[in-house]
Amino acid sequence: MIDIDSLTFSYGDHRVFEDVSFRAEPGEVVALAGPNGAGKSTLLHCIAGLLPYEGQVRYEGEAMEHMSDQRRARDMSYLPQDYNIAAALTVFEVVLLGCMSDLGMKVNDDVLERVESELHLLNIEHLAHRPITQISGGQRQLAFIAQALVKRPRILLLDEPTSALDIYKQFGVLDTIVEVTRQRSLTTIMTIHHLDLIFRYCDKVVGLHDGRLRQVGPPEEILDSDFMAQVYHVDSERIRDSRGVAHLLNLGQLIDVNPEHP
Ligand code: ADP
Ligand code: MG
Repeated sequence: MIDIDSLTFSYGDHRVFEDVSFRAEPGEVVALAGPNGAGKSTLLHCIAGLLPYEGQVRYEGEAMEHMSDQRRARDMSYLPQDYNIAAALTVFEVVLLGCMSDLGMKVNDDVLERVESELHLLNIEHLAHRPITQISGGQRQLAFIAQALVKRPRILLLDEPTSALDIYKQFGVLDTIVEVTRQRSLTTIMTIHHLDLIFRYCDKVVGLHDGRLRQVGPPEEILDSDFMAQVYHVDSERIRDSRGVAHLLNLGQLIDVNPEHP
């Protein structure tokens, strides 16, 4: 379980967010939502221990900042929003790098089997021996998700894991993320731009806007036309499909009542 308590972060004088508190439980997928620049990536960075913050992030009751680098490397995977790779590595080798904390003098069969199993899970076995620089952006994103999963972390932090994927693959990857989160009892926190998918795949949504936590709770309770108006400044209707799943029908920008709005 991850407890985020009164988290505050600034880049120099620029306060990105303050007093953000929420909890993510094992087996749960939590979505961070909010417009560009709301601080979603920064918040994930803080949780990953890559930026200094005020407030507390606790994992199983222990302050994350006191956790050793080895423990953090073993228990947590973090997939950044932008990953540039120019190295002459194959997809298989990129995924294998995710097991770095388990690699000794020799790569044993168990590790190789884990790499193969994650390649299979993400349907990219056929790319295993292709150079990572010579596949599509979406295929590369799948390889990095496999890299995040292969070490069998307890905590999974994913920054827009589906941004480069076509809609078919978005469903596939989100099915996989939910399945591994439940089966391996992971605590998963991710940002996702396609809000509609949050209804289907996420247990909880954390809405960030103007440096504050606006709302937190189950998507059905949070994502509605008021949320879309306040947080995204978009006119939106919530509808239900024939299976009863909610969707947001976004109709356009709201006529600006606040000329300051970007
Ligand atoms: P989001 O992921 O929600 O789009 P970010 O967390 O990337 O937002 O950015 C939050 C705010 O922090 C933005 O105003 C952005 O300009 C600023 N910011 C992001 N990275 C840096 C940085 N390295 N240095 C200074 N400001 C930054
Ligand atoms: Mg971001």
